[in-house]
Amino acid sequence: MNNITIAIDGFSSTGKSTLAKQLAKHLGYVYVDTGAMYRAVTYFAMQNHLVGEDFLNKEGLIQKLAEIKLHFQFNPELGFAEMYLNNINVELQIRTIEVSRLVSKIAEISEVRAKLVEQQQAMGKNKGIVMDGRDIGTVVFPDAELKLFMTASAHTRAKRRFDELVDKGQNVSYDEVLQNVEERDYIDTHREDSPLVKAHDAIEIDNSTLTKKEQFDLVVELIHKFFA
Ligand code: C5P
Repeated sequence: MNNITIAIDGFSSTGKSTLAKQLAKHLGYVYVDTGAMYRAVTYFAMQNHLVGEDFLNKEGLIQKLAEIKLHFQFNPELGFAEMYLNNINVELQIRTIEVSRLVSKIAEISEVRAKLVEQQQAMGKNKGIVMDGRDIGTVVFPDAELKLFMTASAHTRAKRRFDELVDKGQNVSYDEVLQNVEERDYIDTHREDSPLVKAHDAIEIDNSTLTKKEQFDLVVELIHKFFA
């Protein structure tokens, strides 16, 4: 099978990254989690006091964008690539509820999106890539051979995210996580630049009642049917 580009978009906590990692491993492709890149820029903005619960210094962040260097580095023990911000591994720092609360505000800024989209397109220029995010099938790779759009109920998604955070030892309540999921859905689908929408040629998968294995098997079957 010739290398293809697989674009996976959808709401937060729809299991995009789980599926993307499984597919990348199965096909020997590179996996790129674009949410991690928006999270890393958010973490940078927090550290530089450019964003908080009730403020955003958009111009200040735009001025500092050139100082932000992002790269992924494969961790063989974990089996996936971790996010580095200015050569520091920030994988743990970018997964906190604090970053989740602020990231959609940062992702609305067109200058931030332009910088990250350019880097994402460069990473995918040789195909053989699985990328997940919100605008991959619509903006980053509109010509991707396979586009998936993942959905699940807000309750299912909040429960998954809550379990993940508790597993990592974070002190959060289910209601707080549900509120965050719903707020991000709203901002992500209503922003002016590259809102989250299903590409017209994307295949929608509602995985509310699918196990990870059932979902993976379904997509692998699709790939073998259309691209083998
Ligand atoms: O995928 P994840 O939930 O980690 O993404 C965090 C946030 O980053 C999303 O809620 C969205 O605001 C932003 N994002 C985006 N475009 C992408 C990936 C993520 O706007 N391609």
